[in-house]
This record gives sequence, C-alpha cells and structure tokens, in this order.
Amino acid sequence: MRQTQEMAYAKLNISLDVTEKRSDGFHNMVMVMQTVSLCDELSIRMTEDGRIRCRSNLHFIPSDERNLAVRAALRYLERIGESGQGLELRLHKKIPVGAGMAGGSSDAAAVLRALNRLYDRRLSLEELEELGSAVGSDVAFCVAGGTALARGRGELLSPLEPLPDCELVICKPEFSISTPELFRKLDAAPLRRHPDTAGLLKAIEEGDLHAMCRRMYNVFEDVEDRRMRTVGEIRGRLLDHGALGAIMTGTGSAVFGVFDRAEQAEQAAREMKKELPFACVARPVGRISR
Ligand code: ATP
Repeated sequence: MRQTQEMAYAKLNISLDVTEKRSDGFHNMVMVMQTVSLCDELSIRMTEDGRIRCRSNLHFIPSDERNLAVRAALRYLERIGESGQGLELRLHKKIPVGAGMAGGSSDAAAVLRALNRLYDRRLSLEELEELGSAVGSDVAFCVAGGTALARGRGELLSPLEPLPDCELVICKPEFSISTPELFRKLDAAPLRRHPDTAGLLKAIEEGDLHAMCRRMYNVFEDVEDRRMRTVGEIRGRLLDHGALGAIMTGTGSAVFGVFDRAEQAEQAAREMKKELPFACVARPVGRISR
C-alpha cells in the first residue's frame, strides 16, 4: 500500500484543571478529554523524492516542520529506521485553528496512525502515544482518543467509560487565543476555583449526563483577560438555547454546549451561526482502533 486516508478528530475538554507549575516550565494538569465528530481529513502518499511536504486548504498553515503533522511523520520514520522516505501529506482542515480543539495535535496523531498502517503496524499503541507526546502535549491523547482522563502535561492517560449519549454545539468567536499567553496570565494570579474532577468522573461512570454537565469546568475561564467576557457571553447564549452545560475548551477560544436533544442542538447551532463565524453540531466519538 502506497497511500491511505485518515480522519483527525477534534478534542474537547469536558473539564480542565491546572494543579501546579513544574520546575521545567510546564504545568501539571488534570483534564477529562473527549474526541468529537468534527474532523480534519488527512491523506498520505508515499513519494520517491525523499521530501516530506504538507499541503492544506488553509494557506496560513505551515507546510514545513512547523506543521505538527510533518513533525509526527519525521519522528515516525526516524523511529522505524525509514528516514529519507518521501511523503505527501494533504490536509483538509475543518477544525478551527487556535480554538483549543487540538487541531494540529489531532493531525499529528492521524499521521502516526496512518503511517503505522502503511508500515504494517510496526509500532504498538503505547509506542505511538510515546512518539506523539514528544511532538505535542495533546498528541498522545489524540492517537486513540475516545473519553480519557489526562494528567501531567496531558500525556498520562487513563481511558474512561464513553460519555452518556449527547449532542455538542461547538462555537468559535472571531478571535483565537494564544496558549502560552493564557498560561502566563494564569500564573500571575491564584486560581479561585477548581473543577470537581472526582464528581465528574463518577457522573461519567454512572452515565448521568445532567450530573456531568453540572461539573464541567475549565480554570482558564477564570483568568483575567477581557476576551473571557465574550467567552462567558457565548456560554450564556448556549445555556439560553437549552444546553445542559457549557464551557470553553482548552485555552479557547471555542466554547461548546451539551444538549440531550438533537433538534434543540441543531436549532441552537443555527442561531449561534447568525452571531458567530463558526458554529456546528458534533457528537462524541469513541476510541479509535488502529
Ligand atoms: P490546542 O488545543 O492543542 O492548544 P489549538 O487547537 O488551540 O491547539 P491548533 O489549531 O492546533 O491550536 O494550532 C495552533 C497553531 O499551530 C497555529 O498557529 C498553526 O500555525 C500551528 N500548526 C501547526 N501545525 C498545524 C496543523 N496541522 N493544523 C493547524 N495548525 C497547525
């Protein structure tokens, strides 16, 4: 086989806690993560020219090693002793960029899964996750996805029961938020509130959607930043439209609401689209088999 296709699913944070700043500059986090049906489409073709190129429908996405998909491909080939193999990566990006939905990380993870298929599954899931975490903090989770508790920088993963059945309305305002900038602001002031992660895990374990929604919380929403006012307004609008819970994902700027009824979610997405550049309905996606 010389070419293959793969879906790169977006991730949402059902909760996000930051527990400490480490001596290496990274932060220890505790997050409940979920892959969702909103996805980029990747195709990979082996080429003869020894170069790795990435083309995408978005002109501002880097095509060289600054692209996480290219970095993942380089790492994979190096790891299996095939450096020098040429590859053409094509990405059709549908996940909004700089939205806290791990778009780049999920592309990187999709590259790892796709290459492992092209090379007859030479690496195990654990080896792919380890390679992924060297590319970026969210990449390890994106390799198998599903529902998981992530700790450390996001690379220490424990699979969880699938989310209770629900619909997700994902919205993004005009602006994006830089992850390093938001971490700096978070470090500047003590956190006033933390999510009840234990309660959230119990709600997921018991399949209790309402209890889950009551416990969704992202500590970044409490950071002193004027853009959080807009995030709060979007959250409020989603709740007005019938969401059982709504929070920002990752370091934003995307916000999502959880609905138990498909028609209500569709209606909410239609209304939100009148006010915002991006709004869609997605569903949770379970663990991805290699
Ligand atoms: P996270 O949720 O992991 O914090 P994000 O969703 O906020 O990430 P991304 O959309 O992954 O952010 O990308 C942010 C930056 O990464 C962009 O400025 C972009 O130039 C760069 N980048 C590198 N590779 C990719 C890729 N494959 N797709 C999108 N952006 C990429």
